[in-house]
This record gives sequence, structure tokens and C-alpha cells, in this order.
Amino acid sequence: MTNDPFKRWNLTPIINASGTMTSIGASRVAPQTRALVDRILDSFVDMDELQASAGTVISRVTGSEAGCVTACSAAAMTQSVAACLTGSDLARIEALPKAMGNRRVLLQMGHMVNYGAPVDQAIRLAGAEVVPIGTAAACETWHLRAELEQGAAAALYVVSHHTVRENELPLDIFVALCREHGVPTIVDMASEYDLVGPIALGASAVIYSGHKFLSGVTSGIVAGTSELIRATYLQHRGIGRTLKAGKESVVGAMAALELWEVRDHDNVRLAEEARVNRWLDDLTGIAGLIVEPHADWTGNPITRVLIKVEPDVAGFHAWELAGRLEARIPRIVVRSGLAERQEIYLDPCNLSDDEAVQVSTAIGDEAARLRTGGIGKSVSWSEVKAEREAATLAWRGNGDAA
Ligand SMILES: *Cc1c(COP(=O)(O)O)cnc(C)c1O
Repeated sequence: MTNDPFKRWNLTPIINASGTMTSIGASRVAPQTRALVDRILDSFVDMDELQASAGTVISRVTGSEAGCVTACSAAAMTQSVAACLTGSDLARIEALPKAMGNRRVLLQMGHMVNYGAPVDQAIRLAGAEVVPIGTAAACETWHLRAELEQGAAAALYVVSHHTVRENELPLDIFVALCREHGVPTIVDMASEYDLVGPIALGASAVIYSGHKFLSGVTSGIVAGTSELIRATYLQHRGIGRTLKAGKESVVGAMAALELWEVRDHDNVRLAEEARVNRWLDDLTGIAGLIVEPHADWTGNPITRVLIKVEPDVAGFHAWELAGRLEARIPRIVVRSGLAERQEIYLDPCNLSDDEAVQVSTAIGDEAARLRTGGIGKSVSWSEVKAEREAATLAWRGNGDAA
């Protein structure tokens, strides 16, 4: 039997021009990380010792007092919120999601987003109550202060392209106000490259995904104060058991962080920029497509390619182009989260130069087919929404039984 999972289980290969998307396997794990994970998988290790060692690595990289590893960032949110409800009281930890005392967790309304699941649910899972502050596109100091004065177990801040960033409370003001009121702050930085900023500002806990830009295995990294990290880790004796991080997750996260410390970031950036420039060259001149470099939404050091579709000139909608790319074999996955605005983004992080060329060739081919085949501008955005919902519900637990 073949050792290639794609052949063995008849899986569809993917070229990933979308960055780090959990729905298609997040990232390419570096060989050095895979080797360490492989070694630990064949061994036994005291998990308390392993997690303490992970804390040493996390502290060194982030500047925090302590750290631990969870199953993923969503689990890290649930466990660190739980920690704010229970402290290190084992009876309280075992009692969750029934919480004693103040259960209020403050969250700016514009940060109540969906990264594949809702942020507020990750908080509620711990037994906490989410208190939205401000409105969808505006949060002011007085909104936060008023709720802090009512008392709170914690306040959560999300840094992400998913959030509404116009008129949000800046992180420094948020952390400072919470500190003034003695309320711990948890910062979700799942997909953000800045490993030191929030800790330096005085955040109590900061969360990163091990499997996004860090290119590790599926894991969540929590950096924070000794007290809060102990209480976060101790949740493994309670609700954290449901969110278990095994030895492979912990070692995978540690290895990824250490690789990040020695990675030649400038060279990686140059290689990514070369792919971006190639795309800009290849795609310029396709009728109805405006292509330009696009700086990352939250200031991460990534430049992507923005393809703005003008449907009347191109003869198709952005979502139709993205849909046809996804229907190819191999599937080509682009960032189509803003297709509603006729925008598609190409991300250079998780593909080879050769794959990058295949992406631009496929875009040229599919654009031509959509235009000349008379099939463009036939599917509305509302129909796409309905199709996506139907596709979600059409999943079946037996791939053979079509
Ligand atoms: C990806 C993401 C998450 C979830 O991360 P996982 O590690 O996959 O659970 C949470 N918050 C934000 C902002 C994200 O981008």
C-alpha cells in the first residue's frame, strides 16, 4: 500500500495561495519540527515537565514570565478565560463550566468575530458570560470603563484581520484601563507575527497559533504571568481535558518557536516578494482585473496580491473566478473572504515558486473561459451564500456514500 495519503485515500491535492487556513490544513510544517515531533511520538515524557519546558521557550521568545501549550488558539482562549474564573483552585477547575463568583468577560463588539467559529463561544465554553462593549464599529474608553466599574473576571482583545478596526480601542489603552481596574487582559494574537508587543504592554496572557505563521503542528501557545499560566495549564484537569494537547502538540509548538528564533526572516520575505512580483507581472493586462500589491491588514510583514474584479469589463464576478479555481484538480485555494466586494487576494507564504506560476496560469485560463464561454455573471452573491450553506450541511461521514 502506498504511503502517500493522497493516493491511499483518494484525496484532492491543493495548491494553497490563501495563506494559513485551518480549513485546508493551516501550514506546511518544517522538516526540523517534524523530526522532533516524530522522535517524541516514539517516546514517553512527563507532560508536566514537558509543559514547564515549553514555558521556558515561550518566555524566552515572548518576554513573558511563563507559558504553556494548548490544543489550539481557540482552546487557549477557553482555558485562559477559565483560568480567570477559577485561579488555581482545583475544586473550581473541576466544577466548570459551572463558575463561582464574577463570570463577566469584556469584549469589544467589533472583536466579536468568527475565525471559523465565534470568538464569544470560546469564552462561553469556559462558563463565562460575554459582555459586549461599544458598538460594531466604535468602542470608546467610557464604554470599557463603565463595564470595568461593574467588575469583570477578564477582558479579551482580538488582533486580527477579522475584526472591525475602525474606532476600536487601541491595545495599549485597553490594557492600561483594565490594569487600572485590576482586570486581567487576554490578547488573541492567533495569526499575528508580533511575539513581544502585547506582553511588553502589560497584557496578562497572549495567545498564538502554532500552526499558522509559525508553521508548527496544530497547537496554541499561551504566554503570560506565572499565576495566570499556572491556572491555564491546570485546566487540563478539568475542561482542558476536552481540549487536550498531546506531546506532539507541545513539542511541535516548542520546535516551531525555536525555528522562528533562528529563521532567516529577510530571506523568506525576499522569496515571498519574488512570488508576489511574478503574480503582478503575470496578471497585469487580463481584462477586468486590477492587480496591485496589498500590505497586510494588521501590519504583519506580508505583502499579498489584490485582484480587484470589475465585473462589467471582466465578464464575471470575483466569486465565480475563485469558484472555478477551487474546482480544478489540483484545487487552487485563494483568499476569497472578501469576494463579495469583488476582491480576491493571493498569499505567497505557503506555496512554492512553481506552484505560484501554476496559480497565475490558472487565473488567466479561467478568466478567459469565464469571459468567452458566456458563463460569467450568472451566479449572484446571494446564490453563492446559499450554495456554501448547502455544501456545509452536505458533508457526510462516509466519503464513499455520495
Ligand atoms: C485562527 C484564529 C483563531 C483560532 O486559532 P486555532 O489555533 O486554529 O484554534 C482564533 N483567533 C483568531 C484571530 C484567528 O485568526
